[in-house]
Amino acid sequence: MKTLILCSLAVWLGAQAAASSAEAKVVLVIHGGAASEKEKMKLTAESEKRYREGLERAVRAGYAVFKKGGSSLDMVEASIKLMEDDPDFNAGRGAVFTSAGKNELDASIMEGRHLKAGAVASVTIVKNPISAARAVLEKSKHVLLVSEGANSFAKGIGLETVDPSYFHTEERWKEHEELLEEEKRQKPRANNDKGFSVPSRGEWSTVGAVALDATGTIAAGTSTGGMAEKRWGRVGDSPIIGAGTYADNEACGVSATGHGEYFIRYAAAHDIVALMKYKGLSVEAAADEVVNKKLKAASGSGGVIALDRKGRVTAAFNCEGLFRAHVTETGKVTVKLFRE
Ligand code: ASP
Repeated sequence: MKTLILCSLAVWLGAQAAASSAEAKVVLVIHGGAASEKEKMKLTAESEKRYREGLERAVRAGYAVFKKGGSSLDMVEASIKLMEDDPDFNAGRGAVFTSAGKNELDASIMEGRHLKAGAVASVTIVKNPISAARAVLEKSKHVLLVSEGANSFAKGIGLETVDPSYFHTEERWKEHEELLEEEKRQKPRANNDKGFSVPSRGEWSTVGAVALDATGTIAAGTSTGGMAEKRWGRVGDSPIIGAGTYADNEACGVSATGHGEYFIRYAAAHDIVALMKYKGLSVEAAADEVVNKKLKAASGSGGVIALDRKGRVTAAFNCEGLFRAHVTETGKVTVKLFRE
């Protein structure tokens, strides 16, 4: 009798453990950019609420696609589109301004089964750059299209285009004017300076997503207006496969945000995948190694979200915060902005 009770207890405990680990399987993680100390200080109760709600809406939109049996590419595109349409994020509608007062948008997407990828850079009339990146993946023989060519590709295949003024939001324009003023007050830069003006507020609110679908395919995507006050056709890491975005079913999917030049130089997204594949690191350890050791040592601020093929999620950042949310296969949503 005693043995029977013990056995039943063991079976019950086993079932509970299985249930809780199934509960923990994450199918989608998204981010709304890395946050600096200054940005944290600037956050009001009202803006914090807006960010949290924006993240939750986007992660739920991606989850609705999962529930309908959609692919990881569908989930990534759905959640990123929502954030691109939300003026609070530096992507799509809320893109920051270049120093010339324009909006130039970048995006990329990748799937981890066949290692197929698509990206666009410096587009100016595409309402949802993430959809253009996906079209490059699915409807072209190329991986990266830029500027006017990317604009006309997107228009040619029937994606929604807008007048560039669609991306002109008052909030970003005010920031742009303040940054221009700040720059004027600073010493004039020499021609051999670091190559572009670093936004003095160090704010990034690029968006990204990584999803795992029912077939076990991982997809990752990133979309951004880039760094504020960028010049000379500057392109950051977001549309660069291996830097801002990567997905490989043998390891994980990654989407990055932060000071793009460093993420390009350190091939950050791919390095995380490589550490998992060749060194056997967990997704958490690999992301930590790249973000908190390699990039931090080089003063490359920012962070990543990553999701592995078992549904284990991680967020690594070496700045104050990383706005993020994830959802498990049972629909449990978690939203976090800082180290909480
Ligand atoms: N990584 C982006 C870039 O360098 C900026 C960001 O994450 O907000 O263009």
